[in-house]
Amino acid sequence: MATWLSSAHAWPTHPETQWRDVMREAHARGWFFRPFSDHAFGKISCAEKPDSLDSACATKIYSSATGSETYAKRALTLIRTCPHSSEQGPEPDDHEAARLLKDAERLLEGATSLLSRATASLGSDELLEQASRCADDADTLLAEAEVLELEANRMADRASAALAGTGLEESTPSQLVIAAEETLSRADQVVAAEGLAQRIERAQDRCAALKLRLRS
Ligand SMILES: [Zn+2]
Repeated sequence: MATWLSSAHAWPTHPETQWRDVMREAHARGWFFRPFSDHAFGKISCAEKPDSLDSACATKIYSSATGSETYAKRALTLIRTCPHSSEQGPEPDDHEAARLLKDAERLLEGATSLLSRATASLGSDELLEQASRCADDADTLLAEAEVLELEANRMADRASAALAGTGLEESTPSQLVIAAEETLSRADQVVAAEGLAQRIERAQDRCAALKLRLRS
């Protein structure tokens, strides 16, 4: 009597496609195969040496093509709905799931790290860009500052020329503005000529403007 072959063995190849599919599925799920030499190709079962159909599923594998499509479909259903072989075959496997989850978590961690690194380097790129922009600004400001310094020196020269002999040579700008205001006020009181009055007015405007600048 032929013995049952476990899924650890290679099973004989059935000549019919439908039955080959059935046997492949059974083999993949850890079923057993017992070859026949008579009218049937063999028998498959979810248990080795099945005692009854209560304790195990079993079905014949027919040799002939007659009606094999229907029988093969039934056999496939039997294999896939087997309640006995939950530990065998590609059934839900928590160990495998846990391993895959661990792999996925490692990948996610890696992805997160890479993303953080990318973000950080983006940030530093931005800072470098900002820094270079600031440097450009600084250059511009420096140039402006140099121009302003030259202007200031010229103004200082003009101021000391203007103030020479007035006794106000050492005054601060605000003192000078106050002095100018007082002077203009006095001039305003005594002015008669239209043209001159307008110049005084303009000078008073300049005083006001200067006071604003000094305040800021
Ligand atoms: Zn079964």
